Amino acid sequence: MSLNDSWMRRDLAVLWHPCTQMKDHEQLPLIPIRRGEGVWLEDFDGKRYLDAVSSWWVNVFGHANPRINQRIKDQLDQLEHVMLAGFSHQPVVELSERLVALTPPGLERVFYTDNGSTGIEVALKMSFHYWRNSGRPRKQRFVTLTNSYHGETVAAMSVGDVALFTDTYKPLLLDTLKVPSPDCYLRPEGMSWEEHSRHMFAHMEQTLAEHHEEVAAVIVEPLIQGAGGMRMYHPIYLKLLREACDRYEVHLIHDEIAVGFGRTGTMFACEQAGISPDFLCLSKALTGGYLPMAAVLTTDRLYQAFYDDYSTLRAFLHSHTYTGNPLACAAALATLDIFAEDNVIEANKALAARMVSATAHLADHPHVAEVRQTGMALAIEMVQDKASKIAYPWQERRGLQVYQHALERGALLRPLGSVVYFLPPYTITPEQIDFLAEVASEGIDIATRAAVSVALQPGAPSNFHDPG
Ligand SMILES: *Cc1c(COP(=O)(O)O)cnc(C)c1O
Repeated sequence: MSLNDSWMRRDLAVLWHPCTQMKDHEQLPLIPIRRGEGVWLEDFDGKRYLDAVSSWWVNVFGHANPRINQRIKDQLDQLEHVMLAGFSHQPVVELSERLVALTPPGLERVFYTDNGSTGIEVALKMSFHYWRNSGRPRKQRFVTLTNSYHGETVAAMSVGDVALFTDTYKPLLLDTLKVPSPDCYLRPEGMSWEEHSRHMFAHMEQTLAEHHEEVAAVIVEPLIQGAGGMRMYHPIYLKLLREACDRYEVHLIHDEIAVGFGRTGTMFACEQAGISPDFLCLSKALTGGYLPMAAVLTTDRLYQAFYDDYSTLRAFLHSHTYTGNPLACAAALATLDIFAEDNVIEANKALAARMVSATAHLADHPHVAEVRQTGMALAIEMVQDKASKIAYPWQERRGLQVYQHALERGALLRPLGSVVYFLPPYTITPEQIDFLAEVASEGIDIATRAAVSVALQPGAPSNFHDPG
């Protein structure tokens, strides 16, 4: 038995994997990874895979990056962890100072949690609590876009709209207001991204006009709806949204958990709209992809609404045990150093252009409806019918075939349903991008050529996060 097989057997005897129908692994081999280096992951049999999806969008400067490794090792010898209530430490202070300096003006306070979903919970709770503390207790509801994803905990699911993740749990969810997404994949032919995004804002305007007195906040994934299939829209939407939120006295929550730290071509997506949200949620690449941590930045105005004598019970009494973990802060500080020292955002422009040129030919593919790109995210939408953009039935799992082909060829491309995408570490080379484009093209040919017969079930989800 190979080493891979042996680890797989031991794993499948005791583990329950995330976002997985475990029965799939009767056919689909699990890949045990022994080590990582740069953009490569290596399994126990010595096969290497180019990590084109940054291990679920977290990695920015490669696996086992020597600079990040060193910083964590140094921190480890100093202090591994201390509770953050009543105590503080050097890396958390330095990181907070740097995040405040790096993010758009007005974001002056940083609250930490230990993953993206709980970061969203914090922003939602703080917004709700702010209005209560400010004598506006009717403002309790949240406005969200269709096709959004904000995480897996119950309130985060409530503001999400990817049916596969949320439908089952509907009875548990908060009652939110859903507004049609500005998703430019759905724009009428001949319309520009900007026109479409502007046009779609009318729905948001109407919802806020009708409901603002009961609305605490609007939450969006700026520019790219990630788990919803890497759907993209124009920054004008964020600009209009900021103006409307001000006009209607509603908070604006930017979930930049996936798109922050350069994914959209700027350090933060909100920069492209020239705005500051009331809450900015960061995670994933925050620690370079090393350790779980989220940061929620907010304004002094928000902070002041909680600042009072203890007996008024206005404090934000929310805590996660590992809040502000020093090792995670050290990883984040090293990551921010690399961004600054290597002029990464500027250097990424050439890589983004290469992703576009390497995949341009796919626009003519008979089963590709669109190749779209925003910064360092590029997505290829496979469809059954190109002219009318009719999607493949989800049960056919076409993306899974791309995934399997890519693994054979030594690439980790994990499509979102029928959307094949690249969201690579920034240490990828132009030649490696060409290789990914080649593998993706082959995979798309194979997946779209195959006649797949499945028993279609009515009422099934129309969108999903993963091929298998
Ligand atoms: C991944 C993600 C989350 C959730 O983060 P977790 O760390 O997985 O809980 C929230 N919002 C967006 C936009 C994400 O991509």
